[in-house]
Amino acid sequence: MSTKEKSLNFIEQIIEEDIKNGLPTEKLHFRFPPEPNGYLHLGHASSICLNFGLGLKYNAPVNLRFDDTNPSKEEQEFVDAIKQDVEWLGYKWANEVYASDYFQQLYDWAVQMIKDGKAYVDSQTSEEMAQQKGTPSTVGVDSPYRNRSVEENLDLFERMKNGEFEEGTHILRAKIDMAHTNMLMRDPIMYRIMKKAHHRTNNDWCIYPMYDWAHGESDYLESISHSFCTLEFLPHRELYDWFLDQVVDENNIRPKQREFARRNLSHTVVSKRKLARLVSEGHVTGWDDPRMSTISGLRRRGYTAASIRNYADTIGIAKRDNLIDVSLLEFCIREDLNKIAPRVMAVLDPVKLVITNYPEGQEEWLDAENNPEEEVMTFRKVPFSKELYIEREDFKEEANSKFFRLTLGKEVRLKNAYIIKGESVVKDENGNITEIHATYDADSRSGSGSEASKRKVKGTIHWVSVPHAVEAEVRIYDRLFVDENPDGNKEVDFLDFINPNSLEVVKGYLEPSLSTAVEGDKFQFQRLGYFCVDKNSTPEALVFNKTVGLRDTWAKVEQK
Ligand code: ATP
Ligand code: MG
Repeated sequence: MSTKEKSLNFIEQIIEEDIKNGLPTEKLHFRFPPEPNGYLHLGHASSICLNFGLGLKYNAPVNLRFDDTNPSKEEQEFVDAIKQDVEWLGYKWANEVYASDYFQQLYDWAVQMIKDGKAYVDSQTSEEMAQQKGTPSTVGVDSPYRNRSVEENLDLFERMKNGEFEEGTHILRAKIDMAHTNMLMRDPIMYRIMKKAHHRTNNDWCIYPMYDWAHGESDYLESISHSFCTLEFLPHRELYDWFLDQVVDENNIRPKQREFARRNLSHTVVSKRKLARLVSEGHVTGWDDPRMSTISGLRRRGYTAASIRNYADTIGIAKRDNLIDVSLLEFCIREDLNKIAPRVMAVLDPVKLVITNYPEGQEEWLDAENNPEEEVMTFRKVPFSKELYIEREDFKEEANSKFFRLTLGKEVRLKNAYIIKGESVVKDENGNITEIHATYDADSRSGSGSEASKRKVKGTIHWVSVPHAVEAEVRIYDRLFVDENPDGNKEVDFLDFINPNSLEVVKGYLEPSLSTAVEGDKFQFQRLGYFCVDKNSTPEALVFNKTVGLRDTWAKVEQK
């Protein structure tokens, strides 16, 4: 713990203020309220870290509430995925609850509101109602059905519930004020008829509450003290409060809605609707495609929960919308993987290197350090032999003095092994190099302690022994969108900015210690970046995903 208290963010200030004004801390209660109509994305991670983070800070319960009031888009698959993601991020909810748990209570309250003259059934078409809505500068017009009798309203509402009417023929509206300056207060819809099976209540209901009606009342029923949502709900706050006024008993806690800015990430989209289009139109392989900004995609890509929490903490919360550069997210995962990922050698674009003076048929198992960041050094064995793979770009026949890799006539160190010198090349009929021939200094083995082993040479390159190499499919990802803000221009479809080269699949040659790697295992392929084992991987056919490179190369490309 640092001695200096971290300064409070504006959400914490609101809570502290309420405590100062007499709210007992044991009444603090938060919730995270996803709609189960898609997978959680990095924007949700901000909201999760905020709400569950407050729960930890104040030792207060946090509910996981599914806002499941629209059966046309919601599914059990999404409920399951959301639970898995919140858990994986490392948080525990106090209660798993559903807006649909409250359908009966909400209905009963709506009946009471009709009796109190606070709600009525409107039987106009949606076009007619839209015409009466007015504009921010002109008042709306009352519906001709606004003054129906209580009896008629009760009768119609019950028959709506009983399924006697078709979709779109009647709705229930709150009776507030068609001239209200806040358009959302002009007799908002409370219920619509939807003849759709719900993933939990099946066909019990054919009327479903609207978000505004369900959300605040759900908060109230769960004794939520603070209901934090994103800024687009700011104009809804007045309605949230109006609906609470209709039901709140002063002995119970009255929830308070407060808003914070949505978090957007560059070079991607964070909106379930848009992510759903990427999936349904086949631009990615699914919600957990490693290029997606979903929690499940990031997990499959090799992101750790700690790196995502750290990212959310670093950007914090804000009062204004802004675009966070994806390089910050990449910084967070690099920082974590640097600490935890074992180093290994893999060659992704191979050319064969033959060490001409190394004995035919000989093999050696050399010590290689697993991770220099570890407090206690640990080692593994890597096999060395006469024929090796090295990266094609680590060799140049002729090179200037700034090229510190392998070239003819110069020395370079093979990582964890010997110093070698480039001697000659073999080419095919097209002039492409098929083999490089080199000689080695047999006394120069790393760690042997000999004078030759301490010789300084300018470069070190990685390698994999040809007879021992394990083949693997390696999936190399780039950003899914070429534009920084694909969502930013409303005239252009975000799909126009898709990066056609966001996935490259190559065959890699790996050191044999990787043959037993299983889904989720994470490694640093030395000099290449961080990689993890994909869920498609099997012991017979390994598949790796590139998580992120060792440093930020994109910034340079963009400047060109
Ligand atoms: P989307 O537009 O992606 O569908 P949503 O707001 O409709 O997002 P919900 O499932 O309703 O998704 O959101 C659950 C919670 O997560 C809400 O409190 C919402 O405000 C918050 N949230 C969603 N997206 C973001 C974001 N980009 N940044 C911060 N919080 C977000
Ligand atoms: Mg929503």
